[in-house]
Order: sequence, then C-alpha cells, then structure tokens
Amino acid sequence: MNKLVKRSLTVGGGILALQFLRKALTFKPNPRYEPWERKPYREFENKILVLGGGFSGYTAAKSLCKMTEDRDDVAVMVVSRENYFTFWPMLAGVISSDIETKNVAQPLRRSLIELGASFRRADVKEIDFEEKLVTAVDEGVKSVQIPFDHLIMTLGGEPAYFGIPGVEEHAISMKSINTAEEIRNRVIERYEEHTISRGEVPASKLTFVIIGGGATGVETASELHSLVHQALAPDYPNIEPHRVRIILVDRNEQILKELDPALRRTARKKLADLQVEVMNNVGAREITGDKVVLDNGHVIECENVIWTAGARASVSLERFEGLPYDERKGLEVDPYCRVKGFDNVWGIGDCAANIDSKGNPIPPNAQAAVQGGKVVARNVLAAIDGKELKTFDYRPLGQLVEMGSQFAVNEVMGVKFSGFIAALFWRVTYLFKTESPQNRARIAADWLMDLFFHPSVTQIRGRER
Ligand SMILES: Cc1cc2nc3c(=O)[nH]c(=O)nc-3n(C[C@H](O)[C@H](O)[C@H](O)COP(=O)(O)OP(=O)(O)OC[C@H]3O[C@@H](n4cnc5c(N)ncnc54)[C@H](O)[C@@H]3O)c2cc1C
Repeated sequence: MNKLVKRSLTVGGGILALQFLRKALTFKPNPRYEPWERKPYREFENKILVLGGGFSGYTAAKSLCKMTEDRDDVAVMVVSRENYFTFWPMLAGVISSDIETKNVAQPLRRSLIELGASFRRADVKEIDFEEKLVTAVDEGVKSVQIPFDHLIMTLGGEPAYFGIPGVEEHAISMKSINTAEEIRNRVIERYEEHTISRGEVPASKLTFVIIGGGATGVETASELHSLVHQALAPDYPNIEPHRVRIILVDRNEQILKELDPALRRTARKKLADLQVEVMNNVGAREITGDKVVLDNGHVIECENVIWTAGARASVSLERFEGLPYDERKGLEVDPYCRVKGFDNVWGIGDCAANIDSKGNPIPPNAQAAVQGGKVVARNVLAAIDGKELKTFDYRPLGQLVEMGSQFAVNEVMGVKFSGFIAALFWRVTYLFKTESPQNRARIAADWLMDLFFHPSVTQIRGRER
C-alpha cells in the first residue's frame, strides 16, 4: 500500500512538474478579460478612444491597458486605417531585400485584444466634439459611430512637398509600407528594360536621385546601393552595377544635420566609398518625368526620383472642424499633451506640435512618439481620477543611422560610434523594439540567412487574364 501511494505521488508529481514546465515555457500574462467576460466598450464608465494605431497610438493604448488592469471603469479602443502599424525605422531595409515587407508590418489586432483593448480597422472621417462621437468608415462602405469620454489623436504625419512642381506626380515618397517595395521594383523594371533592349537605354533610366539628406535619405541611398551591387548583381551579370548612378541632393550644408559633425563626416566618407554622389546646399525646383531641375539651375537627367525631404502633420486632421491646427506643425497642444481649448482631447506623435515644460518643441520621431504615448496614458487616467497632470519632458536617447547591413553611424546618450559594431547595435536595438515576437524571430532569421546566402529578389506582379 505504502509503495502504491509513493508511486502515485511520484507520477502525480511528475505530471505537475511537466505542466509547470510547459506553462513556464509558453508563459503569457493573463489577459485583462477572457473574450466571454468582456462587456462592450460602450458600457464602460470611461471610454478612451485612440485615433491611429502607430508608434504613439499603440503605446498609449498598451500603457492604458497595463495601468488599468485592475479597474472595471475604463475601456480602451483603437481605430486605425490598417490592422498593422508600420515599423518605419526598418522600412529602408526592404529596398535591398534585407527585410521582408510583411515583417515591417507589426500586427495590431491580436496584441491589442490580448492587452484588453478593442480595435476597429477604419478611416476616421468625422468628430463631433459636442456629442463626443467619432464616425469612422471601413473601405468607404461600412460606417460606425464610436462614443468617447477622452479622445487621443495620434494620426501621424506624411511627406511635405512645399509646393514644388512635379514631386507628387513623378517622385516616389516614403509614405507607406509599399513604397520601399516600389523602389525595389523600379530598379528591377529598369534592369529588365536594359536587358531586353540589349543595353540601349538612356542613362536617365539608370539614374536615381534621392532628395533629402536626413536619416531616411541616407538609409535609402545606402540600401539602393546594396540592392544594385549585392542583391541584384548575380541576377543581372550583363549589367555593370556602376552604370547605376545614385545621387543624394540635400538643401543643407551637410547631410544628417541632426548628427554630431564627426559622424556626419564619417557618413559622408562612407557614401563616397559607395560612390553615392552627394550634392549639398541645393534643393529641387521642379521634377518632371525625365529630369530634376535644381534651384541653382543645374539639371539632372533622371527618370527615378525618391522624395524624403520633408514631413508634415496628417492631412486627415483637415477633416475635423474646431481643432487648433497648423498644417505644417500639427495640433496645438500644451505640455501635458492636451489639445488647446479642450479638457478631453489629447494629441501626440507626428500629428501634434508637442512641447516640453519649457515650451521647447519635441521632434517628430519614433522615440518621442513612444515616450509621448506613455505620458498621455498617464495624464488621461490622472484627468479621469482628478489627479495632477505631468508635463511631457522628452529624453532623447540618441540617433541610429544604418548604411547597408555592415555599417552604421550611431550617437547613443552622447557616445558616438560607427562601423560594423554600430551596425550590430542598430540591428539588436531595433529587433528589441519590434513589438511582434513573430516578426522579431523572422527578421533575426533573415539576417542570419543573409550571412550564408545572397538575398533573393522577386517582384510580385498582378496579371490581367
Ligand atoms: C521612412 C521613415 C523612416 C523613419 N525612420 C525613423 C527612425 O529611424 N527613427 C525614428 O525615431 N523615427 C523614424 N521615423 C519617424 C517615426 O516613424 C515617426 O515619428 C513615428 O512613426 C510617429 O508615430 P505616430 O504614432 O505619430 O505616427 P505613425 O506611426 O505614422 O502612426 C499613425 C497611424 O495613424 C493612422 N491613421 C492616419 N490617418 C488615419 C485616419 N484618418 N483614420 C484612421 N487611422 C489613421 C495610420 O494608418 C497610422 O497607423 C521614420 C519615418 C519614416 C516615414
């Protein structure tokens, strides 16, 4: 009998230990609600509606859910045009096929549901501030009205063209997740034309002009170089990669004006090594289908222009009457991220002109969007609970610029470094910041594979039957 009890205890203990191990390996925090326990968003006492699910909107929703885990009076809903958010800092990597497009898209729906928030994929069309109602439309067909007690505006930004003729019609601008693929496909199209016409194509078809010498412009030029000289070289042995001219045009005295001067020089030297031509102190006056006219009168014969030279607040904001809004800077907000003239409307990220407690402007970048998301979540809850609000005092952590897979120029908390170690740092940092574990694993696997194989470049084309 004693033996039987001992054996049963051993088997039972073994099963429990295995269960414990399985749980430890597949650990996930308990969801705020099980789906069947959830009451509808509309029935909560305090409804917080987040418009836009990018860096700032997602962070605000995530922080709110974490801070209200034990509360039953607060509901969070996110409305965004897509069911993913674009991890912009990695987008340039898609040009050279270093990163797959789908891995730059961070899925929103599942992570928000698991956090305890609700999600609607829809385009925000109208806001009735009196009635506290937002009207959103999905693909122009289904319309939904969503009530709110607090509204967080995080609609992001878009390229600014400064009224320069021809930019919108003729240039590719880095404004959506498809753009990087569009640039890659443009190179493939030009190469195919070159191959079919046995090399008799004008030089303008193989000239790529990137306008804007900030981080996005420099990364785009470097990735184009990798695409031409590494990824596509084995596919088109008949095309001498140096026939492709890559020109970076920048209005400032030096490229990467936000970086330390020594790092700017390092980046400039690296571009020279890559044979990227850099033109400073000059801007574009006009872009046509086959040339770029610069404001010093110089003309570049070119049929491929990429625009990375300016940004402004989302045009969606123009739809909403009664908001204090400046087209270039965005929503006018106080240092607590509250939209001027409102108690319950908040603005953060690229759509808002955020300022710190001293009135200094906060730059529109991903770090500020994430930090702002946390601040606004805290302040909305403080407003609900009648507590004191905190100012948004932005702490810049640094700037990382990748120039191909093996080189970067970084400035992190005052420490400046460049080269291969900097490129590794860039990769580890952004991998760590990627929200989706699946995307993180796939990107890491892609980078690992690239050590052994050339990335393969494919162009998926629709076909009319
Ligand atoms: C190509 C590129 C590279 C960049 N690289 C870097 C970098 O390396 N480091 C860095 O710090 N910053 C970088 N940035 C800037 C950074 O990505 C932005 O500052 C940041 O994304 C701002 O966050 P956000 O939440 O305000 O906007 P976003 O992240 O753009 O999110 C806005 C969201 O609102 C949604 N939306 C807009 N209008 C509507 C509407 N009417 N209805 C519903 N939803 C709507 C959009 O679909 C989107 O999901 C880069 C930007 C670009 C374009």
